[in-house]
This record gives sequence, structure tokens and C-alpha cells, in this order.
Amino acid sequence: IKYVYTWGAGKADGDGTMKALLGGKGANLAEMTRIGLPVPSGFTITTEVCTYYYDNGRTYPKVLRSQMEEGIANMEKIMGYKFGDAKGFPLLVAVRSGARDSMPGMMDTVLNLGLNDKTVAALAKATDNERFAWDCYRRFIQMYGDVVLGVQKNPDEDHEPFEHVIESYKHEIYGKDIIDSELTAEDNKELVTRFKDLVKSRTGHGFPEDPWEQLEGAAGAVFGSWMNDRAIVYRRKYGIPTAWGTAVNVQAMVFGNTGANSGSGVAFTRNPANGENELYGEFLVNAQGEDVVAGVRTPDPVAGMEEALPAAFKELMKVRKILEKHFRDVQDVEFTIQDGQLYMLQTRNGKRTAAAGLKFAADMVKERLINWQTAVMRNPADQLDQLLAPVFDVNEAAKATVIAKGLPAGPGAASGRIYLNADRAVIAAEKGERVLLVRVETSPEDLRGMIAAEGILTSRGGVSSHAALVARQMGKVCVCGASGVEVDYEKKTVTAGGETFNEGDFLSIDGTAGTVFGGELATEPSEIITGLIFNKKSSQNTEKYQNFVQLMEWCGKATRMGVRTNADTPDQVKTAVAFGAEGIGLTRTEHMFFEGDRIDAMREMILATEEADRKKALKKLLPHQRKDFFGIFKALEGKPATIRLLDPPLHEFLPNTPESQKDLADKLGVEVEAIAHRVHDLHEFNPMLGHRGCRLAISYPEIAEMQARAIFEAAAQCVKKDIPVQPEVMVPLVGYARELELQVEIIHRVAEEVKAAKGVEFDYLVGTMIEVPRGAITADEIAKHAQFFSFGTNDLTQTALGVSRDDMGSFLSSYQENDIYPKNPFASLDTTGVGQLMEIAVEKGRSVKPDIKLGICGEHGGDPDSVTFCHKLGLAYVSCSPYRVPVARLAAAQAAI
Ligand code: PEP
Ligand code: MG
Repeated sequence: IKYVYTWGAGKADGDGTMKALLGGKGANLAEMTRIGLPVPSGFTITTEVCTYYYDNGRTYPKVLRSQMEEGIANMEKIMGYKFGDAKGFPLLVAVRSGARDSMPGMMDTVLNLGLNDKTVAALAKATDNERFAWDCYRRFIQMYGDVVLGVQKNPDEDHEPFEHVIESYKHEIYGKDIIDSELTAEDNKELVTRFKDLVKSRTGHGFPEDPWEQLEGAAGAVFGSWMNDRAIVYRRKYGIPTAWGTAVNVQAMVFGNTGANSGSGVAFTRNPANGENELYGEFLVNAQGEDVVAGVRTPDPVAGMEEALPAAFKELMKVRKILEKHFRDVQDVEFTIQDGQLYMLQTRNGKRTAAAGLKFAADMVKERLINWQTAVMRNPADQLDQLLAPVFDVNEAAKATVIAKGLPAGPGAASGRIYLNADRAVIAAEKGERVLLVRVETSPEDLRGMIAAEGILTSRGGVSSHAALVARQMGKVCVCGASGVEVDYEKKTVTAGGETFNEGDFLSIDGTAGTVFGGELATEPSEIITGLIFNKKSSQNTEKYQNFVQLMEWCGKATRMGVRTNADTPDQVKTAVAFGAEGIGLTRTEHMFFEGDRIDAMREMILATEEADRKKALKKLLPHQRKDFFGIFKALEGKPATIRLLDPPLHEFLPNTPESQKDLADKLGVEVEAIAHRVHDLHEFNPMLGHRGCRLAISYPEIAEMQARAIFEAAAQCVKKDIPVQPEVMVPLVGYARELELQVEIIHRVAEEVKAAKGVEFDYLVGTMIEVPRGAITADEIAKHAQFFSFGTNDLTQTALGVSRDDMGSFLSSYQENDIYPKNPFASLDTTGVGQLMEIAVEKGRSVKPDIKLGICGEHGGDPDSVTFCHKLGLAYVSCSPYRVPVARLAAAQAAI
């Protein structure tokens, strides 16, 4: 088996399509080499080795070493240097991980590998640059010591141990902090000695001098880091399978730290925060790549390179064009300039905010780089709601004091209580607080805290720092490199603009402008919301709004499946329709009874022991219901409305406190004991499995009768006013065909009665929810009585898994940590289990009624992966809450492309 793929001098074993085997980085290095870009030679150890490593008790395939030797030989031939050469210029290599999908900050990198006491001298002699050679050696020992030998910060230490050695040395010799590039050759030599002592004292072994031992150690560390905590957390968050593994890339070093004519940088071919078509990124003169991303020295904007290194800058602008044309997407590149010559070290599709992604896609269609279908695919459905996220109220922001300015690294507005450490941020967020994580800089250790926070503020680091990258990807608001913010971890305070804030105090950050405000600021809706829903002209004139509308139009062209909404009020209907909903997929009529004094009539109805009392209470409810339905029909302007008959888990409606019982008793003119008694009688141990859904109306048919009457009388009103209507009456929680049959009889009878009484005609449908397993597996029997099915996947998940939808919080995280639930099954459909029940129901339903209308109205209707599944299942529509409608439309379109 071929485990090692080489590239260099215009030729490569692999290419850009081989990401599964070579990882993203390796595949693209091969691809860049093939299209003639300046890429230093190297080789990739495939992901199959990673899999082998974990399948075989952390050992390697026998043939690997000889294949690596061939790989090194190939590099030696191309570069003209020898690995471990103690006389001439030694071949040094960079060892980096490269999973299929990039995992920023998760995996480890070692640069300058191949240096030892002999080769460092050879390097110094060959380059006639002692300072440079020893700078490389010092960096190498530090990185190798950290990521391979595990010489890292203990919990009781404030500083990284190597950094600590450097800092004390600087103070000892210079009496102050100087930047690393100011260290002399002698300084670096001394630091190398101290670093080696540190390694010896921490690990009990000397630093490995043999380049091959170093190389194998580094590759092993990359494979080992696939299973470190941070990588596992990251994979879980982004649903990356453990089985994919990572590749290892070994690449000839080029040096950005040889002097003023050299440097390193990272750049996006377009601005990944706002989407502008401009080279965006940062670089440092006389530095290696890690200096730029580590956030230790704040780098300069990449535009500044035009002055510092004009020829290389020109070259980079050319490469930018070539890359976009070749990959047809915005690229995120790493590059190094060695003595004026540009080298490309990496390219990948750039992570972007939703706003930038929207603009990239729209612009690239205009530039004819991609077609509209690709543009639709380029907008991740699960990020779309970032575009709908609020911004600060302009008036408030104008009045508020700006206490610091930083870099706009993740757009949006966030206000929250500040926490200076990830663990405390997580705890506060779990308590329901809105949290801002404030750090000097973030590292992968902070990931959990970043996930929990609304926004992230750092005082150091650039727009490609860890904080910025991760925030953008997660859609978090982020301001980074706000140097005016002083973070004191010990005192747990943040000082900025002369004010000091304690942990738990409010700060607000604007990640679009890069501003930090003291205190809490109110937010306002995004232009897309104000443009679409409030018809605000100034919003509609923005590019963002127009690109969004364009995207939704494209979705409409592509999609097979419709999107409806779950809405209980005319306002909700209007919002959803503005977003493109094609009707209502679920109105929960019980929600309408919480309003005003209706709850009293509702309680009266539930508590009634006699039919006559119940009918009396229902009579009070009828006009309210009719009015509600009329309002909804009107707002829908003829679009279909699925109205579900009452499904109240009783406990949500009963007066449970002595005060509320007394109150109700007074209103009804009965003894409070009678109420208390009845509440006691009605108490259920498992209300979710109790007297709810159609069971209630089976016991008390007058409930179904009243609701059907309200629906049809409202429909009749519409007809009289020339308002088109399409009512669809839906029966909940059906598990037996007979249940549905009984309800359908009532509904049809009432419809005929209303038509006759009002002297009008209208069409309507009657159908059922499929939300208990028995309903799904007897769907053929049920379909005889139903004109449509709507999957109630909330209850179907609850009943199929035997997990209470209200009580899963206590074990959800352990189930996810143990890989039992890949995702929360109430948020994202369990396609293997619950999905099978749906498949059965679809098949059996269609066997009886081939054209039965099928939809879904559980929460899953707004989850992109679940929408994809529904598309495959052939459902006619998904239904979700109003603000999820754009997400569902995008996911439905993507599923169809
Ligand atoms: C469902 O169960 O999926 C559903 C839509 O109904 P509810 O959430 O009201 O139980
Ligand atoms: Mg339900």
C-alpha cells in the first residue's frame, strides 16, 4: 500500500480531489504544485496510517519508514539539500497535521525539524547568519518540546514554561521585554541551552538529536493529537467522524526569518468578515508563520506588504487571482517570503461569516466564477440565522461610551456579563446568563467557553488569531486585539477607558465595527428583518438585503419541497410569509388559550365533571377561537392552514397553586375545595403520555365539535368576505385508525352543518399527525381516514426513544460525550431510528393513498440535516417556526441541487 504521497517541482502524486486520503492540506499542496504555484517540496503521510495507528495499538505499518525515506530522498533531490547534513545547508522540514476538514488550533505543528547541535552550525555557516540559525534552533526546541515532548504549562503555572524561560532571560540580560527578533545569536544560543535543560528536567531525557527520531516523534505527535480532548470537542461540535483520521504533511522549510527581506503571512483572497473583494490578512517581516497566528506579536495588515516587500506582494496578488480562478472559491492561504521570493505553504477554502459568505456567493455569480446553484450551496444553512441576528440599536450605540477599539473579527452585536476563563463562562451560561468571554488571547483550551459565550473579546492577536478564526466559524460576535483592554486574570477584572469591570459586569461588543462598550446595550434587528418584515426602505437598499433576497429566489427555483410555518398568531404568520413560508404546517390551538381570561374558560372546561358544564365552558371559548382562526386565515391570504385540534398536556393548564385555585373558585362561584379535589383527580404521573391529544376529544367529543365549528365558521366568514381559505384540520396523537375515524366523523358532520347554516361552500382537508410509533407502523390503516399526514417528530422522538422531551437535560451531555447521540435527537432527527418509523409510515400511507399529502411539523422541520432527510423521504413540505423559514428554505434547496 502507498502510504506516502510526494509533491515538488511541478509534479505531485496526489491532487486536490484526494482530501479523504491526503487530508485537506496535503491534497491542496499537491494541487497547487500541479498548477505551477511556488510550493516547497514535501510529502503527505496518508490518513490511512492514522486509522492503522489506532486500529493496531498505536503502531505503524512496517513499510512506512522506507516510504518516508523515499519521500525525504525526493525532497533532497528537488531542494538540493540533505536531511541531517552537518556540512552543507541541511534540509529542514515542517511537520503539520492535515485532517480532511481543517480543524483550526486543534492539531499541532513543528517547524525547523532536522536541527541539532551539528546541523545548526552547518546552517549558520551555509547562510552566513548565526542569528538566524540559532533563532531557528531555539524555535524548534520550543515547539518540539511543547507539542511532541509535552513540556507544557502545569495547572499551577501562569506561563508556558518555554515562554517563562525567555521572559526571565530577557529581563536578566536587557532588564526589559524585547521582541524575539531582537534576540542576538548569543542570546539564542544561551536560550537553546536553557531550553534543553528544561526538557531534560521535565522529561528526564535529553533533547533528541537524531533527525529521524525527531521526524518520527513529530509524526507520532500529530497522530496522537487526533485523540486529544480539544480535537474530540471540536469534532463533536462539527460532527466530524473520528474514523476519518488525520494526515501528516512533511514539507521542506523555507524561512521567513532570514532578515528584513523575508517574512510570513496569512491571507484570505477576500475579506472573510464582510465579504469585500480585497486581499485581507496579515504578515510580519522577519518572522516564521507561527508568529503571525500565535497572537504573540500583533502583525501588520497584509496591505502593508506592498511597501515592505513590493515584488513579493505583486506576486501574491497574482497568486490570489490564480487560486480563486482555479478553486472557484475564496482561499485562505499561508505564505512565506524567503529573501524576496514568495512561497505558498497552504491553501484552503476560507472560513467565513454568513454575511461574507452571502456576498462572496453573490459576487462570484456576477463575476461568472460560479453558477447560481453553486452559490446556493455555498451558504451553509446552519449559519444563515447569523444574518438575521440583531445589531446594536443605533441610537443607543451613539450614546454609549466606547471604552476600547479592536479588530472586527466576527460581526454582529453582543452584550453580556464578562468572564475571564472558559470554565466560569460555561458555568454562567448554564445558569442562563448571557456571557462574554474576555481573554488576552484564546487558545484551543478556551473552546468550551467560546461555545458558551455570545461573544469573545481579546486584547491581543490579529484577525487570523485563534479567537477570530473560531469565532467566525461558530458565528460568534468577536472583537480581537483590543489593546486598550487590560485583562487581569488574577483580580478577575477588565480595565478599559479608565473604567474597571469585574467578572459578572456587563460589556458590549460590536464585532462589525470592532468597538467595545461599557455596560449593556440594547440590540435591534438586522436589515434583513427590517427590510422584509417591516418593509423599511433604507434596509431594502442595502447590499446585504438584496443578496439575501436573491439567495431566497434561487432557493425557490431549486427546491422541490415547500416550507410552511408553525404559527399561532397573525403576526407570526406575516413574519413567516415574509420569509417565504407557503402556509401554516401547524397551529397549536392550545397555545391560544393562555391569553387573557381565556385560560379561565379553558380551565373551567378541563375541570368540568358534567357534560353540560363542559359545553357551557366550550361555548365561551368558541367565539375566541373563531376570531383567532379568522385572523390567521386572513393573514395567510389563501395559503393553506393546518389547524390542529386541542392537544394540551393537562398539567400545563391546571391551576396548581392554592392562589390560582382560589382565584378560579371565586370566578366560577364554587368552593375552592371542589377545584382542589378535581385538580387532584386529574393529576397524572406522565402527562406527556396521559390524557392528551385526541384522547381528550375521544372522551369529550364536544371539544372536537367546538373546534371544528370555530374553524369552519371562520372559513365561512372568509368566503363571505371573498377571502380565499384552505383549512386543513389535523387530529393529534393518533395511534389507532379508529381514533381518527371517530374524530373525522365529527369534523365532517360539523362542516356540513356550518355550510348549511351559513349557506356557503368551502373546501377543506382532514388529516392526522403521525407522532406515536403505533401510528407510524399502522399508517396504512390510518391513511384510510386521512387526507394528509404530518409527522410530529417531537412526540415521535419522545415515544420512539422512550425519552421525555422535557427531562433529557440531565443526561444529554453524557449521551453525547459517549457517542450515543451524535446530536441532540430533539434538535436533529434521529434518522436511523425515528427516521425508519417515518419511512414505514410514508410507504404504508402511500400504499393505501398514493397521493396522500405528507409533511413534518416537529422542531426538526427547521434543522438543515433533518430537512435533507425529509427531502429524501419525498415529503411535500417541512414546517418550522417563522424565523427558521429561511434556513429551511435554504436546506430544502440544497437538498434538491
Ligand atoms: C410534535 O409532537 O412534533 C408536534 C409538532 O406537536 P407538539 O410539539 O405540539 O407536541
Ligand atoms: Mg406532538
